[in-house]
Amino acid sequence: MKILVAGSGIIGVSSAYYLAKAGHEVTVVDQESASALSTSYANAGQLSYGMSSPWAGPGIPFKAMKWLLAKYAPLIINPKLTFLTIKFLFKILRNCTVARYEINKSRMVRVSKYSQQAITEMVKEYDFDFELRSHGLLQVFRTQAQLEASKKDMAVLDAYNVKYKKLNVEGCIKVEPALIHVKDKILGGIHYLEDQSANCFLFTNHLAQACKALGVKFDFNVSIQKIDYENKSIVGIQTDKGLYQADRYVIALGSESTDILAPLGINLPIYPVKGYSITMPIKDDVDAPQGTLMDETYKVAITRLGDTIRIAGIAELTGYDKSLSKSGDRITQFVLKDLFPKAAEQVEDDHLWAGLRPMTPDGTPIIGKTPYYNLFLNTGHGTLGWTMGLGSGKIISSIISEKTPEIDIEGLDMFRYQ
Ligand SMILES: Cc1cc2nc3c(=O)[nH]c(=O)nc-3n(C[C@H](O)[C@H](O)[C@H](O)COP(=O)(O)OP(=O)(O)OC[C@H]3O[C@@H](n4cnc5c(N)ncnc54)[C@H](O)[C@@H]3O)c2cc1C
Repeated sequence: MKILVAGSGIIGVSSAYYLAKAGHEVTVVDQESASALSTSYANAGQLSYGMSSPWAGPGIPFKAMKWLLAKYAPLIINPKLTFLTIKFLFKILRNCTVARYEINKSRMVRVSKYSQQAITEMVKEYDFDFELRSHGLLQVFRTQAQLEASKKDMAVLDAYNVKYKKLNVEGCIKVEPALIHVKDKILGGIHYLEDQSANCFLFTNHLAQACKALGVKFDFNVSIQKIDYENKSIVGIQTDKGLYQADRYVIALGSESTDILAPLGINLPIYPVKGYSITMPIKDDVDAPQGTLMDETYKVAITRLGDTIRIAGIAELTGYDKSLSKSGDRITQFVLKDLFPKAAEQVEDDHLWAGLRPMTPDGTPIIGKTPYYNLFLNTGHGTLGWTMGLGSGKIISSIISEKTPEIDIEGLDMFRYQ
């Protein structure tokens, strides 16, 4: 079949790859000049299979109030509240119950574990250099309250067979020796043994090359404007370079998926949650992180990527605005200096970046069919699109190829919102 994939981020490219492997004739279109130049460009690089959890959970509304008032706040809400933001906050709130959290987490873990297998297969098949590190992920606690709360998390981890170790300060230093310099600031941590870190931009571009070898055509600098439909069938996608037609269409436009689909009566609850990262060259290897960490206090990730360190975090609710605010720079720099004071070289053009996470209120991506028989969705991966990317590509390829997916896909498609 002829398949058009809209979007060339990690989700679009992994969809294209598995569709081409299944024998389809695939074209990918994207408004950028290459793959992974939008949200997949400079994310935190964490492959957090073990830490895959929705943001919305019990206790979050109370924590969010505290975060809003904190000096280095992980959550920023534009005071000029729009209807879009209010609607999203309300939907998040509805997902903060124990029952919803468990359902949402189980769906996310299913996709993440499937992606973990897919990455392992990929590493065996190709020799992509994408700065992969299998050092686990260290979640660092600074307060007694965090240590207490982590006991509840551990029960959940046990339930999902996640391999982890609870660590005291010495244990944390064994995993990340440079923490010795700040040992008085931390109280312990959880080491997610199977989590990894790697460069999503590099990987997506290697995978795009592998796609090309399988015959996938990439049309860049093409802006999608409108989807044409008749009854319950898509007849083409209008772009600034003309009409694209195919037998099947996959929408993998990340945060931009919603506006394109709304005229079709498909209203996805995806909100563009802005996050920031800064990438800095390493000054001295022994003082730098060896893998990836999550500072639980500031919700900031610190990841070793090749000869650089990437510090990423913040959830800013300010609609589709991608501008770089000073708070992004301030918080990421503060956390790096606080935990790894000697690690990075301060350079003038430190690479500050902002991206829009395509967040659903339940944290789970939207993968599967639509009311239009030839239109499919692979979007809404929020905070974990890199982690869940390959599994999501495999699932959509199975669905379109009318093969039974290898994992249970209950609750992944858009119909869960009805
Ligand atoms: C600060 C930050 C840190 C993160 N850290 C992690 C992490 O550590 N681990 C993790 O798993 N995830 C992380 N994420 C989330 C992850 O980056 C995203 O979930 C993922 O990149 C989404 O991929 P995507 O392909 O859906 O979207 P995108 O990468 O945004 O791709 C969508 C594509 O659609 C194209 N497009 C949009 N509109 C149009 C149009 N009209 N016409 C043509 N093309 C169009 C865009 O150009 C873009 O290339 C992080 C995100 C942020 C912001």
